[in-house]
Amino acid sequence: MSEPVLYYSTNLKTEKQNFRDALLTGQAPDRGLFMPCSIPLISREELREMSKMQYYEIAHIVGQKFLSDQIPSFELLNIVQDAYNFPVPVERVYNRNYVMRLDQGPTASFKDFAARMMGRLMQYFLSLESRELLILTATSGDTGSAIANAFYGLDNIKVAILYPKEEVTERQRKQMTTLDKNIRVISVNGKFDDCQAMVKKAFADEDLSRLPMSSANSINIGRLIPQSVYYIYAYAKLADTNSDERIAFSVPSGNFGDLMGGLIAKNMGVPVRKFVVATNENDEVPVYWQTGQYRTIVPSRNCISSAMNVGHPSNMARVVAMYGGIMDEKGVIHKEPDLERMRRDMYAVSVNDEETRQTIKEAWKSCKLMLEPHGAVAWRGLHKNFDLHREDASPLQLNVCLETAHPAKFPGEIKEILGIDPELPESMQDLDRREETFYSINNDYSEFKQYLSENY
Ligand SMILES: *Cc1c(COP(=O)(O)O)cnc(C)c1O
Repeated sequence: MSEPVLYYSTNLKTEKQNFRDALLTGQAPDRGLFMPCSIPLISREELREMSKMQYYEIAHIVGQKFLSDQIPSFELLNIVQDAYNFPVPVERVYNRNYVMRLDQGPTASFKDFAARMMGRLMQYFLSLESRELLILTATSGDTGSAIANAFYGLDNIKVAILYPKEEVTERQRKQMTTLDKNIRVISVNGKFDDCQAMVKKAFADEDLSRLPMSSANSINIGRLIPQSVYYIYAYAKLADTNSDERIAFSVPSGNFGDLMGGLIAKNMGVPVRKFVVATNENDEVPVYWQTGQYRTIVPSRNCISSAMNVGHPSNMARVVAMYGGIMDEKGVIHKEPDLERMRRDMYAVSVNDEETRQTIKEAWKSCKLMLEPHGAVAWRGLHKNFDLHREDASPLQLNVCLETAHPAKFPGEIKEILGIDPELPESMQDLDRREETFYSINNDYSEFKQYLSENY
């Protein structure tokens, strides 16, 4: 068995912790992010064997490498089998360029991969101690529905989600409100920032300290390890493992959690030639690569790839740490990373809304490839890389573009650009017929507090 993996904080002012504690804590007490002290390796032989395996079997092998001292192998197998009960299609588009669709989970976004695994791991650790957790989370749409669905029906975990009444789409709302059981949904007559402020206030409220509150936000280490698996899966399925062929990935990026999964896979030994890091008009990272100056964008710019409207990616501190630097939670760099090596490994590129729409149109016209705005940013980024680095455009090179959401989640945009109504994935088909349950409050903390006191 491999050495136990411990986790340090990127701010370096917290004791190293095991996976269980890092998972249940979320953010480190020094406000840094947990990072593995060492990254276990995958051998060529293992990659070769994975070419014949199912997704959950690969997730089991990768998970064991990180968690063998934390959870018995058969328990982990149950978890991954239960979490990954949906297909992970990899479509060839032309030459050796592929699109991997990470949109077949219950909420039709790639966030299902991480949330489903994180929820089940939390349930496992909590049940060992007969402990309970109340997850409080504010959402602007996608994260809330992924968390709600991933934690639905789990023991020992209750979830309360706040959403801004007017700011989520009808489909996003229904993905949260039609579940019930351990999932409570609260509609707030306010904005996303108001919801987030209420959650923060509840965490700090002495009167509520008897509640075992925790968060499930995007910086939890429990979300990163599962996100390394689909990179390994794509390589094992597509690459010629006998010749040590190298692969490139194009990653539509907002908070850079998805990219971090890729960097972990590369450090485990997947021969990655390059990551194309594709952002929308929130171009703080492409500008950082170009100028060496990191400047956050406040407020973030509104683009049609809305899940990537991020002006200071919460995982940036981890990316910097991977390359030997130190960045604090505000984005201030205390030690320079190896920027030259970052630029070699990752081509960071910004794609604007006009290019995004044009790409959705052209991909459909020329390749019958259906993209939604996030995947279109990545597809365009891949081709911008081809234009700039001609050697990457060779038909012999293997490239995989990640599609992170289902086109049916953006019916208005797709209809306007392509004139067709994308078919709903199976998981969303009966949404309109299910009954909704939610509780409504004003933008008033005392109402939220009263709700918590009475219901938990
Ligand atoms: C969250 C999200 C992203 C961005 O992923 P990060 O890990 O934040 O970089 C991209 N596409 C979709 C559809 C998302 O929901």
